[in-house]
Amino acid sequence: MIKVEEEMIEKADVVIIGGGVMGTSTAYHLAKLGCKDVVLVERDQLASGSTGLSAGGIRLQFSLKANIRISMESLRTFERFAEEFETQIDFRQHGYLFLATRPKDWAEFQANVAVQQRTGVPVRLLSPEVIRDMAPYLYLDDVVGGTFCPRDGYADPYSVAMGFAKQARRLGVRICEETEALDIKVSEGKVKAVVTDKGEIVTPVAVNVAGPWAAQVGRMAGLELPVLPYRRQVFVTAPFDELPRQIPMIIDFAPSFYFRREGASILVGMTDQEEPPSFNTNFDLEFLVKVAEKAAHRAPILDRAGFMRGWAGLYAVTPDDNAIIGQDIGDVEGFYCAVGFSGHGFMQSPAVGRILADLITSGETDFDLSPFRLERFKAEGLMGERRVV
Ligand SMILES: Cc1cc2nc3c(=O)[nH]c(=O)nc-3n(C[C@H](O)[C@H](O)[C@H](O)COP(=O)(O)OP(=O)(O)OC[C@H]3O[C@@H](n4cnc5c(N)ncnc54)[C@H](O)[C@@H]3O)c2cc1C
Repeated sequence: MIKVEEEMIEKADVVIIGGGVMGTSTAYHLAKLGCKDVVLVERDQLASGSTGLSAGGIRLQFSLKANIRISMESLRTFERFAEEFETQIDFRQHGYLFLATRPKDWAEFQANVAVQQRTGVPVRLLSPEVIRDMAPYLYLDDVVGGTFCPRDGYADPYSVAMGFAKQARRLGVRICEETEALDIKVSEGKVKAVVTDKGEIVTPVAVNVAGPWAAQVGRMAGLELPVLPYRRQVFVTAPFDELPRQIPMIIDFAPSFYFRREGASILVGMTDQEEPPSFNTNFDLEFLVKVAEKAAHRAPILDRAGFMRGWAGLYAVTPDDNAIIGQDIGDVEGFYCAVGFSGHGFMQSPAVGRILADLITSGETDFDLSPFRLERFKAEGLMGERRVV
């Protein structure tokens, strides 16, 4: 039993472990389907994990059809979020412009665009000349080609999580912050209870949406989930008016470098290819120097920008950069997961929360989850997601 404000909670139909955007979306969608005896436990504050540190990018441009479909459903939710959730999320639909500098990436972009267009994504292939007209501030001599989808964009992940949480609470979900799950009791292959630092909640359903800590929560149910935490850093310039006020999210694919507007400033980020897995979230000034160099290469005017602040958060990465989503994971009845989003979990949270809620309430979903099964890691030659930033 745990005490939340004046209420004692002994049991619940569902216990959600993790109060990021995935946990709050799942809580909301469960309650919307009428499953209201739901408890969400978050060991810190809501959105204090990866969600609150995310760059907020939202895109339809994936290589796998399944990811495109998840993003298409999610995008429809972002487009009507302010109205449906009565929460402003600063959603900007300025598009994503991907740049290829290597012939092999360009060949892959062309194959990806064929799949995306067949799936209904309004994406186009662009020559360097067309990109020059669209974004004259870019250095393009080393660019082979690009892709652009105008429906892509970005929003504020913290506000999205708060919007889900607000409506989930309104529908009866109990959200317990500063409550850490310590163990999951499993007996005869079935979930029986979630043990927290405030006491035990008897439940047949435990949902692992613990982001970079997913493997630890998996171990509580006796499972090894291949999800590793990797530090990712972003930096924000001082107000900078030498670039247009409206620019797309620009992705230089080979170095995994990106930038977009953040109000009057510019937000930049890059993947450190040398970074080993760890829970390190220290901000690294040496890495900022490398990122600033990359920024000045791709948009030379950014050489004049001064960096004001930055932060580090964690990606939760699987071996094929695809999430693990499903029910009865590892044959533990009642153990559900939506983990390992490898840098695209924010943008997929609306649809994934809906899919998990369908699975929990009815045991089935209209969505083909085969690319996201845990069992795929036993096979050789994983297909995986290729458009990873
Ligand atoms: C720098 C950066 C940039 C990113 N950019 C993008 C982007 O542009 N677009 C995009 O889609 N994604 C992006 N991501 C990834 C995105 O942030 C994540 O995929 C998404 O936020 C995952 O949400 P989540 O709810 O699964 O995890 P989290 O937000 O990490 O939430 C998990 C929660 O579980 C809690 N928890 C863990 N263990 C326990 C326990 N034992 N008991 C109770 N609570 C527990 C944690 O405190 C945490 O709050 C970025 C990430 C980073 C770090």
